[in-house]
Amino acid sequence: MNGSAADEIDLYEILKIDKSASKSEIKKAYHKAALAHHPDKVPADQRDAAETKFKAASQAYEILYDDQKREMYDTHGMAAFEGGAGGPGGMGVNMEDILGGLFGMNMGGMGGMGGGRGPQRPRRSPDENQKYEVSLEDLYKGKTVRFSSTKNVICSKCTGSGAKEGVEPRECATCKGQGVRQVVQQVGPGMLTQRLVECSACEATGKVVNPKDKCKKCKGKRTTEEKKQLELYIPRGAKEGDRIVLEGEADQIPGAEQTGDIIFHLVEQPHDVFQRAGPDLQATLEITLAEALTGLNRVVMTHLDGRGISLTHPQVEGEIMRPGQVIKVPGEGMPYKKSDSKGDLYFVVDIQFPEDGFFSDPATADALRKLLPKPAEPIKTAVIDEATWEDADPEEFGRGDPRGGGAWVDEDEAAEGPQCATQ
Ligand SMILES: [Zn+2]
Ligand SMILES: [Zn+2]
Repeated sequence: MNGSAADEIDLYEILKIDKSASKSEIKKAYHKAALAHHPDKVPADQRDAAETKFKAASQAYEILYDDQKREMYDTHGMAAFEGGAGGPGGMGVNMEDILGGLFGMNMGGMGGMGGGRGPQRPRRSPDENQKYEVSLEDLYKGKTVRFSSTKNVICSKCTGSGAKEGVEPRECATCKGQGVRQVVQQVGPGMLTQRLVECSACEATGKVVNPKDKCKKCKGKRTTEEKKQLELYIPRGAKEGDRIVLEGEADQIPGAEQTGDIIFHLVEQPHDVFQRAGPDLQATLEITLAEALTGLNRVVMTHLDGRGISLTHPQVEGEIMRPGQVIKVPGEGMPYKKSDSKGDLYFVVDIQFPEDGFFSDPATADALRKLLPKPAEPIKTAVIDEATWEDADPEEFGRGDPRGGGAWVDEDEAAEGPQCATQ
């Protein structure tokens, strides 16, 4: 990887905020950026670019919102978040490396600022981080996914030397066999630091092989591709952001004693019926006006496992359901992991009023008027004006306010926490 690119990243610029921005300003800016660049909200051809920006914004938020990380960033720049010995190589996209760092790997350099251990091969090949989209149904029931993966393994013929039998690879002249080179980099105004980057001449192995002496099986590449069946087990009750680790299933790299993991980061797909908050589920209970007034006894929805959920209302004679009323069904939410218990299901009542023209005869109107409660006592004022009216869009309200903006609260302004913006 090209180490200098990471240092040029300005997290404040990514979020378009000032260096002195407060925590709430950081959060706001992140919400804005996350909404603007959410990969689900842009046309397919812009998705990759949006995803990179989305990741960058998430990463900037992760660091700047955390006081400790922000201080480290302000003092040392992105170098503070990379591994001790120049970071893993060959991944191409720096964001991915940094993001990997945030997910908990390669954090070895955090405390001591790294660099002190001297030239060495990475002891472990890099982890591979991947997103995995899961439906709410699968998170409810749990799921096992089998897939085949192609991974690089150390060549079995040359055991990773890249040379044919009987030939010893020579020491790389460029790096004198170290596999890494020292470079000087600017990390801030007037601040220079020495960093180790991987030697490209020997692909960081410290050794080179003459073309005619290369191993026939791997053609000197030191690794070969191997197909492997893997199994991804998603436990019931898993949620967005959960990590599922397949230990040691990442690519092997010559010289590394250990092999990194494949780490799946679960992404919960939006659902047509349910909204989830931790263990709880929420759904709309659509009922008719007649049901609101006289009650119901029917299957009102299909749950995530295919069961019908039946409700009886009223529970006490005479109860009426109202728009926006919330009722809770205990134990019908999402399962808790490794447990038989479940969260709760919340229904928000929505009353389907009849269509215009549902009745046209005065007799029905009269009958309804007689059945339903009467209006309150007439309001008595000295002057009465007959008003004309028209249908309106709620957005119009407050548009005439000279301070600008409508009076309605912006959805993302009201949202709490970074998750809300990414739903
Ligand atoms: Zn080989
Ligand atoms: Zn070299």
